[in-house]
Amino acid sequence: MQDKDCIFCKIAAGEIPAKVVFEDEYVIAFDDLEPLMPVHTLIIPKDHYSDIADDVPEETLGHVFAAVQKIADIKGIHEEGFRCLVNTGENASQSVKHLHIHVLGGGWMPRPNDQDWGPNATNVEQ
Ligand code: AMP
Repeated sequence: MQDKDCIFCKIAAGEIPAKVVFEDEYVIAFDDLEPLMPVHTLIIPKDHYSDIADDVPEETLGHVFAAVQKIADIKGIHEEGFRCLVNTGENASQSVKHLHIHVLGGGWMPRPNDQDWGPNATNVEQ
């Protein structure tokens, strides 16, 4: 199940290059093009779902989330900790409409506070 216009489907199909970290029958993980942290890897199902709330079968969700620990081990961030993010839809600023988990790590990350969230966030156009 692919979307021919989806950039992540093209990565999953090997049609455009990516720095692949892990791949199996169900998922592929690759480094983010614009990393926000020393480790910034995206995990996607090979099948196309627009986001986590797109009636994704539980089995597929299982495969995608099971890959998190593998990425943490491969990237050497398991012990020190890391953050997973799943932006979903417009209010979460999802930019690529193919379900993906961001795995971020390699350094300390503050908890988001009121400067990062909500209508008064410093990165929001007022
Ligand atoms: P989101 O905003 O949660 O939808 O995240 C999409 C992420 O995909 C962003 O962090 C982008 O930097 C990343 N991205 C977009 N195109 C590519 C690509 N061709 N290869 C790797 N990462 C990409």
